[in-house]
Amino acid sequence: MSEFSLIERLQALNPVLRQDVLLGIGDDCALVQPHLKTTVAITTDSVIAGVHFPVATPADAIGYKALAVNLSDLAACGAEPAWATMALSMPKDDLNWLENFANGFFRLAREYNVQLIGGDTTQGPLSITVQACGLIPKGAAIRRSTAKPGDHIYVSGFLGDAGFELIQHQRGRRLDYPTPRVALGMALRHIATAAIDVSDGLMADLKHILTASQVGANLYVHKLPLSDYLLQHCEKATARLLALSAGDDYELCFTVPPDKIVSVARISSELGLALTEIGIITMNPGLRVLDENNQEIPVTKDGYKHFSEHN
Ligand code: ADP
Ligand code: MG
Repeated sequence: MSEFSLIERLQALNPVLRQDVLLGIGDDCALVQPHLKTTVAITTDSVIAGVHFPVATPADAIGYKALAVNLSDLAACGAEPAWATMALSMPKDDLNWLENFANGFFRLAREYNVQLIGGDTTQGPLSITVQACGLIPKGAAIRRSTAKPGDHIYVSGFLGDAGFELIQHQRGRRLDYPTPRVALGMALRHIATAAIDVSDGLMADLKHILTASQVGANLYVHKLPLSDYLLQHCEKATARLLALSAGDDYELCFTVPPDKIVSVARISSELGLALTEIGIITMNPGLRVLDENNQEIPVTKDGYKHFSEHN
């Protein structure tokens, strides 16, 4: 395996050169120089063939998603993406695969001005670990732990589409090419009290906010934003279940105090992105899912057992 020609090829394809990078690929370390009064947000996520994506997923989609999931984490903290490193393990020295992979990765990197500044390349089962760093003005980072009772809960875009694609075809545009909500995350600085990206499913991810913030929530199932596509392809009860518990949508779920709600409407129209209120943060701990008649839908450990009976 000619590790070095792969690295050279990656470097040749790299479309982004940032001024705050003193030294990129090629030395023992990359060197970056953030401005003073800037907080650096750092996140890392691995994607492994057969675990996080079906083995047959095209290389372009793997490259795109490996970066997208990290940019989604940055977005949830309100960070502006800046730099990335990548640990790449691949079974054989396949330049053709690498070019397609790089094409997906760098397309997204260019869109968000993220420079690939280093990494590691090894031979082994296909897996990609990306670390991404982003910049936040000091004091503006959005955390999970600061939601307050009375805050309204919002979610961006539509929920359930990626989960539906996964079940149906193991492939699809929303599943393979999620849009990290970077501009939204940045716009929510000083507006959202807490935020998380929906990677594992709305309920699972919202619970992380609730636990970290030591609060509870009421979630209204009839308010969940469902796409026409989803509603055309499955029953409403199934669509709602997918929206509550399927993952991979990479939308942002965030909480906003009542006096900041007008800002949410403004951001929504500025970004041309639906931001839907889906519930409220409560002092009462735990997550309750309510229907249009304010009836609680019973939750079991395995999900929503009696869900379809309520529709
Ligand atoms: P070292 O032996 O010092 O760890 P390597 O030989 O692994 O360095 O890598 C050489 C250079 O190429 C380093 O700057 C490293 O960060 C970079 N690099 C290696 N693999 C990748 C990759 N997959 N993506 C980006 N940069 C990489
Ligand atoms: Mg190395």
